[in-house]
Amino acid sequence: PAKESNNTVNDSTVEAPARRQGNLFIVSAPSGAGKTTLCRAALSHFSDIYYSVSHTTRPPRGEERDGIDYFFIPKAEFLQGIAAGRWVEWAEVHDNFYGTSRELLEKHLAEGRDVLLDIDVQGMTQIVGQYPESVTIFIMPPSLEALRTRMESRGADTAPVIEKRLKNAEKEIGARDRYQHVIVNDRLPEAIEALIALISACRARTQGLES
Ligand code: 5GP
Repeated sequence: PAKESNNTVNDSTVEAPARRQGNLFIVSAPSGAGKTTLCRAALSHFSDIYYSVSHTTRPPRGEERDGIDYFFIPKAEFLQGIAAGRWVEWAEVHDNFYGTSRELLEKHLAEGRDVLLDIDVQGMTQIVGQYPESVTIFIMPPSLEALRTRMESRGADTAPVIEKRLKNAEKEIGARDRYQHVIVNDRLPEAIEALIALISACRARTQGLES
């Protein structure tokens, strides 16, 4: 016969229901692969997913706004942050520093909110080390030539910067097999659909049933 519970505090079969931690989605891509557009589309589809706004030392580009696209901070503040353990992950990309605030990330996850991180390969490795349940997604351009064309038509960078970014892109593309999922952004509507379907499927694993 089953042992009857005596309801003492030591009864390991009586556990308070744990509050569900949010899911962590990590999206990486070489620049020009269309990651920002894809992430924006996914975020407008899932209005309850928090987009983790990174801190960076690079100056704002075009229409970028402080606190929305990035928190733009001076290098000295970033370096102090490293020493103080303010970044849950950080990396130096194209001569600029980028980092994710530990405090903001933990706050949203603890509230049970899903979080989407748009970070590079180095950042992904650091986050997965600390949050092994993370869902990792790599966005691929259809080809390096397509990437070059996109970067050139965006007109945001000078020729030497584009060359440097392409070299970096090649290196990053080589890391795609370290991700659980890869989406090739050949045709944008299809890539958006694939990303949304993927996020939906992952969320369905952890979400409770509607009552
Ligand atoms: P961009 O300057 O084009 O916005 O971003 C350059 C690269 O830095 C992209 O690959 C982007 O994913 C990455 N990045 C942006 N924020 C972070 C961050 O907080 N941490 C890390 N590791 N990479 C980031």
